[in-house]
Amino acid sequence: MNGDINRDDRVSVSDMVVLKNYLRGRYGLNRTQMIAADTNHDGNVDAMDVPILQDMIIGSRGKLPMGTWIGDRSGAKRYFCFGSGTGYAVLPDGTVHDFSISSDDDMVIMKFKDTGAEMTAFITWTGEDSYTLKWEDGTAETFRAFSEFCFDPKNMISGNWVTDRGRTFTIDGLSGKLTGKDGDISRFEYLPDGDGITFRFGRTDDNTQCQVKKIDSMHLLMTWADGTSERFTRREIEVRNGITYVNGILIANKTYSLPSDYAPNGILPDAQAAFNAMAADAYNTAGIRLSIVSGYRSYSYQNQLYNNYVARDGKAAADTYSARAGHSEHQTGLAMDINDASSRFNGTKEANWIAANCVKYGFIIRYPQGKEDITGYQYESWHVRYLGKELAKEVSDSGLTLEEFLCIDSKYKS
Ligand SMILES: [Zn+2]
Repeated sequence: MNGDINRDDRVSVSDMVVLKNYLRGRYGLNRTQMIAADTNHDGNVDAMDVPILQDMIIGSRGKLPMGTWIGDRSGAKRYFCFGSGTGYAVLPDGTVHDFSISSDDDMVIMKFKDTGAEMTAFITWTGEDSYTLKWEDGTAETFRAFSEFCFDPKNMISGNWVTDRGRTFTIDGLSGKLTGKDGDISRFEYLPDGDGITFRFGRTDDNTQCQVKKIDSMHLLMTWADGTSERFTRREIEVRNGITYVNGILIANKTYSLPSDYAPNGILPDAQAAFNAMAADAYNTAGIRLSIVSGYRSYSYQNQLYNNYVARDGKAAADTYSARAGHSEHQTGLAMDINDASSRFNGTKEANWIAANCVKYGFIIRYPQGKEDITGYQYESWHVRYLGKELAKEVSDSGLTLEEFLCIDSKYKS
């Protein structure tokens, strides 16, 4: 075989060692070896054969790995995607780090763009689809092939997702676990490929493909190979200082309460500015006057209010229209009642104007008609919640309540 000077059935750096030693007069070559060493076929074995052999080594071995590979470092999977001259690593926490890549003989050099750190490793191919990198610190990491191509890291779906089939996907980087409705857990890796995703369950070739359609910033529609669709809702619930944020959105409802010391002491500035803009446009374009009749309400004020309602109508009735202390959206500083906080307001031209226009200013009608079982409250045409323009539009476009949009509920625990 051309280039296989040491006759080990492959063209490698070892052949280069033999060739260079021959050229320095240290080794002799037999007739078969001379033919293999004459890589440019000019009848002579000389310095002209070195660059050709170099190219053959790179070409025949794929000196630099291409595509996506799974490394196994201390049991945690990390993924390296190698393009030509550049690549990126996906760490077990799902973060992506770009690097440039070059090689020097068997040495692979990755220079990370974010930290400037340079990592070098010696590569030893152990098969067509596996190799070992020996890092500078002496540790070895085995890599196995994951895909022939580098996927676009923007298509990763890291995070916690609940689906409308009651399943949960918990995904870090390119690995995750699926918890079924019955509590069964299966682990998977997935490969994003343009609009598609291939899930690989277990160690076998148990692949499941689906097409991904992004609905909005918090939802995906997955269409599986059997033609059925499943709606994925991102759900990251974080509690900071006793305040619950779902996907970064501050939530106060019957399930999630605010601590008594959460007190913005007024409508928050962005929400107030949005209301002012809305009220000005309502007057200037339609001659409609809007004013806030109840904005921020403190924990203790809400406590009084609710207790008065309980005394008047009883607990069960009060719970349908008034929030218990800590559970009122008015304590957030992001909610307000406009003009008339009573069912008399429903169907008025002011209520209709708000319903048709509030989303443009970043508000939603928080307790829509017919959704009492989901929001926990009767229809309130006067109560709006500020979400910011982009999010308000997404929620409005979805046709869902905020609870449905975030896949959360609104129910008192007792
Ligand atoms: Zn209200």
